[in-house]
Amino acid sequence: MIVFKQVSKVFPDGTSALEKIGFQINEGEFVFFIGPSGVGKSTIMRLIRREILATEGTIMVLKNNLAEMETKEIPQLRRHVAMCFQDFKLLYDKTVYENVALSLEVKGEGEPEIEKRVAETLKSVGLEKKGNFFPIQLSGGELQRVGIARAIVGKPNILLADEPTGNLDPDSAWEILKLFKEINLANTTVIVATHNVDIVNKFKERVIVLKEGKIVSDEKKGKYEKST
Ligand code: ADP
Repeated sequence: MIVFKQVSKVFPDGTSALEKIGFQINEGEFVFFIGPSGVGKSTIMRLIRREILATEGTIMVLKNNLAEMETKEIPQLRRHVAMCFQDFKLLYDKTVYENVALSLEVKGEGEPEIEKRVAETLKSVGLEKKGNFFPIQLSGGELQRVGIARAIVGKPNILLADEPTGNLDPDSAWEILKLFKEINLANTTVIVATHNVDIVNKFKERVIVLKEGKIVSDEKKGKYEKST
C-alpha cells in the first residue's frame, strides 16, 4: 500500500531530511513513526501525500509511483490519503458541522448525502452533540476530534496524523489514540508521527524509529527506548 525504496530528501537549501530510507506499510496496519523533533517524520508524511517530491528513490502509494503522477491526479490521491495535524487546522469562523462538511462539498456531494455522512462521522468521534458549536467553544481533545472527523469523512484508505497529541493533555492524548485505533479497526491504515514515547510504548503497535533522517529500527509491537 505504501512502499519507500532508498528514499532521500534534500531540501532546496541543502538540508538533508531523509537518507536512503526504506519501508513497506500494508493495508490495515497501524504504524508509529517516532523520534525527536527534526528527524524527518513530517517529511515522510508530506512525501506520502505528494506535497513534496523525493530527491532520490521510489515511493509507491496505493499503486501510484508518486514521481510519475501528473499534477491533476494529486487531489484524487489526497482524498485517499487524509491527514490530521497537531494544530488541527480548523476554520474558526465555521461550525464543527461546517468544518467536517467542507471536504464533501468540495467533492461535489449532494446535501442529503453530506448531512448523513457528517452526522455519522461526528457520532463516530463522539461529537454528535457539538455540530453547531464553533471551534472556540471546544477543548483541545474535541478540536482534534473535529480534525479527525474532517479527515475521515471522505472514507480515506490511509489516515496520516502528524503529532496529533502534541497540544493535548495526557488523558485527551490517550483518548485520541484510542480513536485512531477504532478507525484502524474499521479498515483504515493509520500512520502516526509523534515524539510521545509514553503513548507509543502503551500502544504496542508497529514502531519505526528515526534518527537523523535514517530508520534505526522497525518492530512489530515495538517499544521506544529514549536512548536509541
Ligand atoms: P520532524 O517532523 O521529525 O520534526 P521534519 O521532517 O519536519 O522533522 O524535518 C526534518 C529536517 O528537515 C529538519 O532538519 C528540518 O529542519 C528540515 N526541513 C523540514 N522542512 C524543510 C524545508 N521546507 N526546507 C528546509 N529544511 C526543512
